[in-house]
Amino acid sequence: MTEPHPGAGSDPAALRTEARPVDGGWVVSGDKRFISGANGAAFMILMARTPAAGDAPEGATMFLLDMNDPGVRVGRQIHTVDRYIDGGHPYVHLEDCFVPDSAVLGEVGLGFKYAQVRLGPARLTHCMRWLGLARRALDTALDRAERRELFGAPLRSLGLAQELIAQSVIDIETSNAIIANAAALIAADPKAGSALSSVAKVHCSEAIYRVMDRAVQLCGGDGVSDALPLAQYLAEVRPFRIYDGSTETHKWAIARRASSRRRAEVAAGSRFLADVDTAPTGNKIP
Ligand SMILES: Cc1cc2nc3c(=O)[nH]c(=O)nc-3n(C[C@H](O)[C@H](O)[C@H](O)COP(=O)(O)OP(=O)(O)OC[C@H]3O[C@@H](n4cnc5c(N)ncnc54)[C@H](O)[C@@H]3O)c2cc1C
Repeated sequence: MTEPHPGAGSDPAALRTEARPVDGGWVVSGDKRFISGANGAAFMILMARTPAAGDAPEGATMFLLDMNDPGVRVGRQIHTVDRYIDGGHPYVHLEDCFVPDSAVLGEVGLGFKYAQVRLGPARLTHCMRWLGLARRALDTALDRAERRELFGAPLRSLGLAQELIAQSVIDIETSNAIIANAAALIAADPKAGSALSSVAKVHCSEAIYRVMDRAVQLCGGDGVSDALPLAQYLAEVRPFRIYDGSTETHKWAIARRASSRRRAEVAAGSRFLADVDTAPTGNKIP
């Protein structure tokens, strides 16, 4: 059987699951994939495209959907490299599910806006839990480097091993700092905090993966075997560079935000700094 089209993925505007307004509620149909925890879940928060109606704009709406609805079918499990998320990441198929108006979360048409509010702190909690595992990975590697004798010296005293250790300490501390900054900013200014959480997500997901990969390296063959849990840590954390917005999607948004901030500053009177003086004397540093 062929599977449904990959769906929206990185591009939420391509969302195809639709909710049609009917008397007293909505009827939803569509296919979702990679739905973490779907097996065994009692309900799901469903995002579906909804038409403009009255004051409500055309857009996406969030619904609370009972997983026991006769129109919900949890489909094939998708076997990803991570193994420890309860309920896996299966397909979920929705066929004419009736959702009452009382199960609309917030207002109709504002689903994407709510998703942004939720995603800021949600990204940070992923960063925090994976940072904890990165610390554990580094500690495992440090314990190994302490006792492992190579070329007549402990591994921890060999320069190239110290490079791996030091880079991991730097990755952990920079991740820690950016998480703390983003969390404080979310509390003070949710919009700016959400934008910084995007920077934090890219930095942490890449840095944490590097820390785990270096820990595997320092532990040699045991690092890639099941004698130590490091290879499994690496597998668990790898999808984090893809879900909750891939590194590239976030970088794209980060770059656009940076350009737009600077454009607005210049439009508001800030001096344009990239004028090139073509006179023979050249530019002077101010
Ligand atoms: C383990 C796991 C759990 C998940 N859990 C859930 C869940 O619970 N609920 C849910 O709804 N979804 C979930 N997802 C889906 C996840 O949100 C998508 O996988 C993610 O949005 C990427 O979409 P995609 O897989 O279709 O890849 P695509 O959208 O095809 O993207 C592929 C690649 O394109 C590149 N790319 C993307 N944007 C840009 C850009 N602007 N510029 C350049 N390159 C770009 C990136 O390298 C990206 O990795 C989960 C995924 C995984 C792997």
